[in-house]
Amino acid sequence: MDVAFDVIVVGAGYGGASCAALLAERGRRVLVVDKNPQPGGKAMSLRRAGSTYEMWPIVGGPATGSRIEELMAVLGAGDGAAMVTPERTGELRFIDSDGSVFATPLGALPTSATAAPDHPEIGQDELGSAFEMAIAMVEATDDQLAALDTTDIASWMAGFGIGRVLNAHQMAVLNLLFVAPVDRIPASEAIRTLRDFSMKGAGRYHAGGYARPAEVAVDYVAAHGGEYRPRTKVDRIAVEGGRATGVVIDGELVTARAVVSNAGIQPTVLALVGAEHFPDDYVGRVSTLEPSWSFVGARYFLDAPVIDVPMVVQFSDESWWDDERFRAAETGRWPDHPLLFTVVPSLYDASLAPDTDHQVVLAGTMSSPDLSSPMGAEAIRRVDDEMRWTWPGIEGHIVKREVFTAANVSAASRASVVPGQGGECIGIAQVIGQCGSSKPAVAAPLEGLYFVGCDAGGYGCGTHQAVESGFTVADLVDAALA
Ligand SMILES: Cc1cc2nc3c(=O)[nH]c(=O)nc-3n(C[C@H](O)[C@H](O)[C@H](O)COP(=O)(O)OP(=O)(O)OC[C@H]3O[C@@H](n4cnc5c(N)ncnc54)[C@H](O)[C@@H]3O)c2cc1C
Repeated sequence: MDVAFDVIVVGAGYGGASCAALLAERGRRVLVVDKNPQPGGKAMSLRRAGSTYEMWPIVGGPATGSRIEELMAVLGAGDGAAMVTPERTGELRFIDSDGSVFATPLGALPTSATAAPDHPEIGQDELGSAFEMAIAMVEATDDQLAALDTTDIASWMAGFGIGRVLNAHQMAVLNLLFVAPVDRIPASEAIRTLRDFSMKGAGRYHAGGYARPAEVAVDYVAAHGGEYRPRTKVDRIAVEGGRATGVVIDGELVTARAVVSNAGIQPTVLALVGAEHFPDDYVGRVSTLEPSWSFVGARYFLDAPVIDVPMVVQFSDESWWDDERFRAAETGRWPDHPLLFTVVPSLYDASLAPDTDHQVVLAGTMSSPDLSSPMGAEAIRRVDDEMRWTWPGIEGHIVKREVFTAANVSAASRASVVPGQGGECIGIAQVIGQCGSSKPAVAAPLEGLYFVGCDAGGYGCGTHQAVESGFTVADLVDAALA
């Protein structure tokens, strides 16, 4: 068949951009299109009025030895997207019932006195239990992990008896990494991710803006025989003779031997391709996949550098959510302190701020992925209150505040095609039944169609999962085209 491209990648999020670049690196002629003006999807950086910042709080992990670092090395990006891991990457802050705050340096596993909050309830026994848990995580074999696909991480951790404060620490970190209920995150997924963070560090940022690796990746495609088309929406994925044959953009068919979709498994199957092209049981399964929760909040523009910690994860032992607590918050019963994630990009890379007198601070919390849920407005109000409680100094310095909602997340990434879905922070939720051996396959049951990004082919936290998927899918597609 005479085709325009070897591969068309729909979407230049972290998953799509990495997959496209890896295929270009193997000599494939690739077209990558994105409806957004810039690559990066949910991790797109904003460039306005002389400064670069993010749409919402975003920081990567693991800090070193990540798939993102590996991608940049494969593409020969050098300093084009340097991984930034300052000595002080961030803080975990536990708020006790009397309002006192116990801070610890960022780290996934509190296994020593210096990595745990200096809280009166934490003694040698407590640290011993945490250490035992860390060893069990590090030593778990692949087979042991696979067997934990159906065990939830909260129950698995409960077996070590780590106590209230360290438990809150772990549950809050898990909520933040997966944006899903801790009582349904599989222990397999959680352990693999947490041990990456604890062995290779947390709190990675990218010089020039968090989206730099995606930007480097699409530039690589364009410089290696392919094309990157921003502001280009794919209306349909074409199917002929039982296989994906290309994409339709503004009524024009662009052909390829394979189509890789980064637009989300549900929007791809149910809207871009159409349910009629798939087996009924597959459509049934795809339609019922559960999204991760959303993450909503605000960007604060300050006329003075008030905050001196690049990243803060703040929580009480009521802030972390399992299913029951999420449902309670959905009906208006919130904890006194929401889990608050705060990031100041210019504290990772000083060149991101327009000058030394200003600061952009991003803060958010978990909410419903449902674009019509009233929960988002309440969540944003609570983020505001918590920011003012935590940093009373910002009050007189806020010159502008912009909120971000589940609808903004959807606009930057995937369409809402199933009730309650669209504003998910990650992709389909990393919960039991959707992870490990139960994760959707990257090859669709339609010849020539593949999924890349957080819905298939990777593990880990957010952007890292998407790039892991980029590697997996590039291997598979390259082999299929050989
Ligand atoms: C508030 C918030 C905070 C986050 N914080 C973190 C964090 O701290 N650390 C972390 O690692 N991750 C974080 N994440 C998650 C992370 O951003 C995502 O998991 C990851 O970026 C998803 O990548 P992806 O490749 O799966 O797809 P997406 O980023 O969803 O990209 C999909 C791309 O496809 C494009 N597209 C869709 N449909 C079409 C179409 N029809 N035609 C053309 N293009 C199309 C979109 O425009 C988009 O660019 C956060 C997300 C949010 C929302």
